[in-house]
Amino acid sequence: MKASDIRAKWLQFFESKGHHIEPSASLVPHNDPSLLWINAGMAPLKPYFDGRVMPDNPRITNSQKCIRTNDIENVGKTRRHHTFFEMLGNFSIGDYFKEEAIEWAWEFLTDKKWIGFDANRLYVTVFPEDEEAYKLWNEKIGVPADHIIKTEDNFWDIGEGPCGPCTEIFYDRGEKYGDPNDPENYPSGENERYLEVWNLVFSQFNHNKDGSYTPLPNKNIDTGAGLERFASILQDVDSNFDTDLFMPIIEETSRIAGVKYKENPELDVAFKVIADHIRTVVFTAGDGVLPSNEGRGYVVRRLLRRAVRYGKMLGMDRPFMVELVKTVGDVMGSHYPEVVEKREFIEKVIKNEEERFHETLADGLAILSEMAAAAKKEGHTQISGPDAFKLYDTYGFPFDLTEEYAAEHGLTVDRAGFDASMEEQRERARSTRQVTESMNVQGGPLADLTTKSEFVGYDEYVTSSTVL
Ligand code: ATP
Ligand code: MG
Ligand code: MG
Ligand code: MG
Repeated sequence: MKASDIRAKWLQFFESKGHHIEPSASLVPHNDPSLLWINAGMAPLKPYFDGRVMPDNPRITNSQKCIRTNDIENVGKTRRHHTFFEMLGNFSIGDYFKEEAIEWAWEFLTDKKWIGFDANRLYVTVFPEDEEAYKLWNEKIGVPADHIIKTEDNFWDIGEGPCGPCTEIFYDRGEKYGDPNDPENYPSGENERYLEVWNLVFSQFNHNKDGSYTPLPNKNIDTGAGLERFASILQDVDSNFDTDLFMPIIEETSRIAGVKYKENPELDVAFKVIADHIRTVVFTAGDGVLPSNEGRGYVVRRLLRRAVRYGKMLGMDRPFMVELVKTVGDVMGSHYPEVVEKREFIEKVIKNEEERFHETLADGLAILSEMAAAAKKEGHTQISGPDAFKLYDTYGFPFDLTEEYAAEHGLTVDRAGFDASMEEQRERARSTRQVTESMNVQGGPLADLTTKSEFVGYDEYVTSSTVL
């Protein structure tokens, strides 16, 4: 089943249960200073959940673009994490509650008409005190007791406000993905055998200011399921990256690099990271976020640069990310037309940023080689902290590249000294913050990307001390 069919079936299924189909909101939160990015399907619907706005229809379904930068280190290491992914959701704003949410989840997952998973492979976790959920799974649906795991983790609580227990659904990918005798191998979200596909949150309490919990007059349902994870199961492939959402990007990368995928596990990580990051960069640029040295723009810059460096592992020493934009559009454009409509703009943003980074690397390398020669001449075995910091701060040259280069030349780098210089810089920045914050780096000079000279400027406006 194609990923686009899974997405369509989701929306169609919940529409058939009386839900309004809400288009994906922008990745950039609207009126929500608590979030850097939309990171869950519920995030753009918060005004409904906290009662600020009444929806026309209390039942809502969506496929929401999400970004989770906290998962960046997992990308390419696990089979299931991305920085950009689509969360499929169904929501009830004071309308249906646990029973329908659980019944419908089961129907969607196991009915051949929808996605038709083998019920024997499904496991669920419940909050130990949530007897209602346990009973629904066990008695109403018929999930055997040895497929229901009670865990204290299943409580959704982010401080003051609505909260409640949740139940998560896991798919057993089989022994190939984990030793059945390993006690760590059970549905927990921590291993590759039991793949967490769906989280159903029952928001039924209010977490009060004084720390107490009282029942909410209107109980809500908030669920989220990973489209890419469904696809990996339904397409019977090894990881999310081997689905039709990612393979065209990986194939195009392989073609450009002249390196085959699935021949060397280390290089496969590079293919996956690149495929992940290009999607994130394309979608963020599509939502108007440009690389910069602050906030969201800085995340985008970091992701792009990270991908470029993984590209080097595949032997790519020239801009290539820009060449993948079209493929992302081919894969995603049918549901997210913005990535096709804004393709030219997105390509320009990425090309400029890649070129700039290559220049940065070349300049930094030239300076570093002088520093290394000078250090050796003076009989030192180390690149000093201030030197490494100067490379990083003034030339934007990444610290770990300095370390790598030093090692190749029989030198080490003074990490403690580097950290100390960084701290000093932060101290200095605190006193000048007023000035830098008043500069809108995402607008102004970046709005016009037609000439390169305008792009070269912005490290001069804002130094890396303002970086997160
Ligand atoms: P995991 O334990 O696998 O990190 P999670 O418990 O953090 O997932 P939730 O916050 O419960 O995830 O989000 C709901 C669903 O969204 C998950 O069940 C999963 O299918 C999907 N999901 C969450 N994070 C990611 C990610 N980084 N990449 C892809 N899908 C994700
Ligand atoms: Mg997680
Ligand atoms: Mg989890
Ligand atoms: Mg979860």
